[in-house]
Amino acid sequence: MPFPSDNDPDLEVERLIADEFKRQITGLQLIASENFTSPAVMRAVGSVLTNKYSEGYPGKRYYGGNQVVDSIEAIAIERVKTLFGAEHANVQPHSGANANMCAYQALMKQGDTVLGLSLDHGGHLTHGSPVNASGMLYNFIPYKVKPGDERIDMEQVRDLAHEHRPRLIVTGTTSYPRRIDPEPFKIIADEVGAYFLYDAAHLAGLIAGGVYPNPVPYADVVTFTTHKTLRGPRGGCILSKAVHQAAIDKSVFPGWQGGPLEHVIAGKAIAFREAMAQSFKDYAKQIVVNASALASALANEGFRLVSGGTDCHLMVVDLRPFDAELTGKEAQAVLDLAGITLNKNTVPDDPRSPFVTSGVRVGTASVTTQGMKEAEMTQIASLIARALRGRADEGTLAQVKADVASLCAAFPAYPNL
Ligand SMILES: *Cc1c(COP(=O)(O)O)cnc(C)c1O
Repeated sequence: MPFPSDNDPDLEVERLIADEFKRQITGLQLIASENFTSPAVMRAVGSVLTNKYSEGYPGKRYYGGNQVVDSIEAIAIERVKTLFGAEHANVQPHSGANANMCAYQALMKQGDTVLGLSLDHGGHLTHGSPVNASGMLYNFIPYKVKPGDERIDMEQVRDLAHEHRPRLIVTGTTSYPRRIDPEPFKIIADEVGAYFLYDAAHLAGLIAGGVYPNPVPYADVVTFTTHKTLRGPRGGCILSKAVHQAAIDKSVFPGWQGGPLEHVIAGKAIAFREAMAQSFKDYAKQIVVNASALASALANEGFRLVSGGTDCHLMVVDLRPFDAELTGKEAQAVLDLAGITLNKNTVPDDPRSPFVTSGVRVGTASVTTQGMKEAEMTQIASLIARALRGRADEGTLAQVKADVASLCAAFPAYPNL
């Protein structure tokens, strides 16, 4: 039987995919959790592997016909263990959120107490938000950043750990611009007999590239996403000490998931190999150099950087010193009109709600993939400031949008597509 689309292509959806391609390559993509994955990864994700059911693990599948898939998943596992120096890896989690829920279930029982970074201070939804299953299934106690330097308050982490005797201490963030040293967390976890989970969702690429501390030697479990700085397909991954291997694997399947996405796992395998290359180390280094350059340029334009700057790929920009009336929500909307994509973000102890906010989050992973360097970061800061200053004037926004498009045209993400 022929496929209906052979004679009747779905132009409606194809046109929208083409529109999205155009949006991605003609605008500045500054969302800190996004990146441009490679054409090789996209080919794997679009391959026939999507047709195969492979519940179970290599060598232990429920269905037949998994000889090839076993090899693919085994390669992904070996590569990621080598890349991060891990004792065990599970490459099946469909997303970062899933990876975290699987890790929690492997290490805890329902109702157990966990320390996690407060959401409005950089933590993630899956670190105990009341609207997320993590917050419903476990008793999360939040720790925060210090009011003065806006760095994680390790004394508070220690005090809370001794007071609450958690089963697990979680760190890792979605909008914290500074270096997280894993060793002090491990020391505190050992003091109170807690497990230590490090959520490296944002940071995996920087860790793989050697420009950010690797938590794998210290943490019981490290979870991460493969699509942020690591630049692979959209998905999750769990690394752990060998002692947790059986619990982690059981928790992923059959605990939380059914059949794994082997087309995505093939994409992960390709991304892990790409991340082993010297060129990826250069890439990771440039991401951080670019973030520092962009942070200083934004400070020169009159913005305040939360914690004063950045050690990684992202920064949180407090808009209030630039313009007390300007909210994160409005800044996001205005910049969208100018072809600059980023997201509103709370600043620590933000007086505005999470739907409005006083800040925006900015990341340099995508523009660095495009080949932009420090000079372009200064240009980007100036484009952002021009658009926000001239936000009442359509002509200014159109001019900025045209300048953004010509900057992006000089740095094509996909020159061969
Ligand atoms: C992005 C992120 C996640 C979730 O990843 P998804 O793939 O969106 O589910 C989890 N933890 C942190 C810290 C993140 O930044």
